Amino acid sequence: MQVLTRVTKHVASADVMGRRERAGDLMQTGTEAEFSLRFWGVRGSLPVTGPSTLRYGGNTTCMEITAAGRTIIVDCGTGAHWLGKDLLARGIGRADLLMTHTHLDHITGFPLFAPAYSPDFDLVCWACGDAPRPIADTLRSLTAQAIWPLGPVAVDRTEFRTIRSGEGIDLGDGITIRAQRLHHPGGCIGFRIEQGGSAFAIVSDHEHGDDAIDQEVAEFVRGADVIVYDATYTKADYGGHEGWGHSTWEQGAALATQAGAAMVVMFHHAPERTDDQLDALVEAAGGRQPGVVAAMEGARVVRLADGYTFAYEEPSLG
Ligand SMILES: [Zn+2]
Ligand SMILES: [Zn+2]
Repeated sequence: MQVLTRVTKHVASADVMGRRERAGDLMQTGTEAEFSLRFWGVRGSLPVTGPSTLRYGGNTTCMEITAAGRTIIVDCGTGAHWLGKDLLARGIGRADLLMTHTHLDHITGFPLFAPAYSPDFDLVCWACGDAPRPIADTLRSLTAQAIWPLGPVAVDRTEFRTIRSGEGIDLGDGITIRAQRLHHPGGCIGFRIEQGGSAFAIVSDHEHGDDAIDQEVAEFVRGADVIVYDATYTKADYGGHEGWGHSTWEQGAALATQAGAAMVVMFHHAPERTDDQLDALVEAAGGRQPGVVAAMEGARVVRLADGYTFAYEEPSLG
């Protein structure tokens, strides 16, 4: 395992960038005390493959959060296929799936999510209660036999619950989730997952520029330790894409500073963004602000005693 970045809580320091340490000394994985976030899909809009995206990965959005021994999943892009196989291999029997919205890049892995077919697995899907169409209806359309050979079996086996913007829900085991409306065509919600005084905030898909929503988002992420942010664009290439529903890493970095977050993770990479370009963005961003990293398939953010680490671990894609 390679430790890419380590930050001390609320006092990010630049001298740890690129430092490598023995994983066992840092990671409290697989324990009840674990509070971690692992990336299974980091790409927005379209899954991509090829030599230029091998390192950061080409699957669309999917994150796995482990808190107090519980499994929480955010979004079900193509990365969810690989996560599903891994969850079953690990003997996990329940997960709460938080769905930000139903654009194709965030749901296309649902029919391929093996736990949803397992009689030994309980899947609870949380989605926005104010969405114009219930998510179960959309997933039923996605799994109609004309599109998916098995039909809506996985939808029938899933328990659906709703959460509204501004609402906080107690998941049990000391875990709370909160939702926040974002600025995105068709609507989208962000999630804040808290446990043991720590918080991850997921803000994607989101476009900055709506003053009322920006203010709510700033409040929503305040005091979060790690923010995963829609960094589809850079400030330089955002021009001409106003109204497309996505933001820039620079906006994410500014939001993180304001929030007092230790780490901000660029997420929802544009399909065209190559590994080399992401490396260059991370380097440029790190020079300006410590604790800015780019989501990478197989990378894991883990709570430590005194901060957070962002480390790469080979995903088990088989
Ligand atoms: Zn998206
Ligand atoms: Zn979207």
